[in-house]
Amino acid sequence: MKPGRIPCVIPFCRRTADATKYGEDTVIICGKHWRMASATLRRRRSKLERRYRRRFGDQNAWDMPAGTEREEAIRLQTLIHDLWERCKSQAIEAAAGIG
Ligand SMILES: [Zn+2]
Repeated sequence: MKPGRIPCVIPFCRRTADATKYGEDTVIICGKHWRMASATLRRRRSKLERRYRRRFGDQNAWDMPAGTEREEAIRLQTLIHDLWERCKSQAIEAAAGIG
């Protein structure tokens, strides 16, 4: 893999994404595999993601000062992450021909 690229998390997928766009440590699912996850889950996730950005912008919930805002941000961020993980499991299963 070329430097400055991060790999798709799906096993045996050779696609990569731009590390400067997502961050070196970000786990990504390429577009092809992302579409293998359920549309319902993906829609729910992007809805929550939009809501998060509207309220908290680019801040990471864990970096926010303690308080109600931070708790709400963490709650949303955790939900978004869980949905992403479920999309990932679905994409992996679909890619492996299971399910
Ligand atoms: Zn992929």
